Amino acid sequence: MPNIILLGPPGAGKGTQAKRLVDERQMVQLSTGDMLREAKTSGSEMGRKVAAVMERGELVTDEIVIGLIREKLGGAAGGGFIFDGFPRTLAQADALGQLMADTGQKLNAVIEMRVDDAALVARITGRYTCGGCGAVYHDQTKPTAVAGVCDSCGSDKMVRRADDTEEALRTRLMEYYKKTSPLIGYYYAKGALSSVDGLAEMDVVAGSIATVLNSGD
Ligand code: ADP
Ligand code: ZN
Repeated sequence: MPNIILLGPPGAGKGTQAKRLVDERQMVQLSTGDMLREAKTSGSEMGRKVAAVMERGELVTDEIVIGLIREKLGGAAGGGFIFDGFPRTLAQADALGQLMADTGQKLNAVIEMRVDDAALVARITGRYTCGGCGAVYHDQTKPTAVAGVCDSCGSDKMVRRADDTEEALRTRLMEYYKKTSPLIGYYYAKGALSSVDGLAEMDVVAGSIATVLNSGD
């Protein structure tokens, strides 16, 4: 199975598309954001260390996230990885290249999800998810049928991310433009980059990603 990176600003829909690929193609989602949030919930020392940084919308150190990815790649053979939210810096991109080489794997595609900033702010500041099943909702564009109750699983535990505030989002966007967006050029120069329109309907975006995946080896 191919190994791919989903690249794009916060709110581009990387997580949503990654989850679809997991369901439809049995690929393996490696989201450093999810891993860090899990560490935070588990109360581990690392989790405590990163909590405030994440809440402000700043990037966690390369050392920590590279360590997380190294752990996951070490155990899992076979590939089919979707890197979601990683790499986010050039140092992380170099480290990933090295890790893949060390484990005998290849990066098949880097898919850039393009969206405009105004859309991101609107998407993210209204976002909430079901604590029971992970379904994603939005105050304006996709509210639950019954306020506060999940359409899919009936849970009434709705959660909002601590960094989905307008202020933290501004910081996340700035971090993206300063540190992550250079990766677009980096992977383009390596001949690995494909871009899809992240503002299209979810199914259309999924179709564009499928086209990239099916055109590869
Ligand atoms: P989003 O893409 O919506 O901003 P993520 O869940 O990918 O959300 O990341 C949330 C936060 O976790 C980031 O703002 C950052 O603090 C931290 N984080 C996640 N992945 C990385 C990474 N690869 N490098 C540094 N920090 C990261
Ligand atoms: Zn639910």
